[in-house]
Amino acid sequence: MTFDNLFNAQLDQLKEEGNYRIFAELERQCGKFPRAANHTDGEAQDVTVWCSNDYLGMGHHPAVIDAMVKTVEACGTGAGGTRNISGTNIHHLALEAELADLHAKEAALLFTSGYVSNWAALSTLGSRLPNAVILSDSENHASMIEGIRHSRADKVIWKHNDPEDLDRKLAALPSNATKIVAFESVYSMDGDICPMAEIVEVAEKHGAMTYLDEVHAVGLYGPRGGGISEREGLADRITLIEGTLGKAYGVVGGYITGSAALCDFIRSFASGFIFTTALPPAVAAAAKVSVAHLKTSGMERARQRQQVAKLRARLDAHGIPHLENDSHIIPVMIKDPVKCRQIADILMADYGIYVQPINYPTVPKGTERLRFTPGPLHTDADIEHLVGALATLWKQCALSRAVA
Ligand code: PMP
Repeated sequence: MTFDNLFNAQLDQLKEEGNYRIFAELERQCGKFPRAANHTDGEAQDVTVWCSNDYLGMGHHPAVIDAMVKTVEACGTGAGGTRNISGTNIHHLALEAELADLHAKEAALLFTSGYVSNWAALSTLGSRLPNAVILSDSENHASMIEGIRHSRADKVIWKHNDPEDLDRKLAALPSNATKIVAFESVYSMDGDICPMAEIVEVAEKHGAMTYLDEVHAVGLYGPRGGGISEREGLADRITLIEGTLGKAYGVVGGYITGSAALCDFIRSFASGFIFTTALPPAVAAAAKVSVAHLKTSGMERARQRQQVAKLRARLDAHGIPHLENDSHIIPVMIKDPVKCRQIADILMADYGIYVQPINYPTVPKGTERLRFTPGPLHTDADIEHLVGALATLWKQCALSRAVA
């Protein structure tokens, strides 16, 4: 007996809507990033990657690679257990100390991904703290939403980036509630940045805890890469800062930082920490080198900023609509799922440009887009090639030049 008809019915619907996801089969090549070989249609094709979250190319940095290779040779491939049962290695502890220092917090705790860190931390806080109510920004990432849902705590959604709405919603809560305000610094799909000082002020006024996801900001903002909270001098007023090692740091893994008591609490009660194999020591060693490098080197961040500004200016010069924001993320709006995929396909096939179409449910229907993330390793010639291709396709596909 096969159940495939049940699976296929839903998959066919996704295909009809233009929302079915197809992998690009990339082979990242050491030292050549953002160039990669695309194997999707059998033959290898050289492409330039424009949608990587290895924002600074640190996954190809010689010192990061060297740390990973040497640690594999010294410690083997896997951690060999959960953190509590034989899986804690000196490299995990060294990385946790590095991350605590990055955010000027007492302690840090590693997870196998940023997704798991959000899920595990929020589900633990929401389920264990007395009368917990989690106030969640309406645009929060799926990993936070799932963690909140799993906690079964009361949830209140406040209007995206709107401290006044948060203020009203906090004021309406009973005085015995343990209030947790969950939000992000850089929102990954629109690239907008939260009004952090106002949010923190409102939370403090109501005695609420603050839970901040800095996944798209760590390594990229602040003098040492400590994120928007470092840049704005607010880290010490945020209860918990969560981040990833898989984006600007170019490796994999997630973490939280906060007081020693907070990290010990999550370490002691979070099933997503306790019941899973620890990150490989080599991953921790490589991530530590990457974090330490970006604490002292501002070169990658400065060059990234330059290339982001250049791409924006060139898109403007060609009248190609993109969302305005103050981050490194440039969303070019197509507003149609089928056209979005077609344009991405043509960019790949005819121009060797890889950008993944972003469709529903990642973004609301009607706001489909191509999300470009220029980095320090994109050349000016790469930018000209991309903008030339987009300008041609804009004419061919008769796309709107309005953003909203
Ligand atoms: N938070 C946000 C805002 C994200 O965008 C993502 C991943 N895209 C995550 C958390 C999860 O991070 P990771 O990829 O390390 O699992």
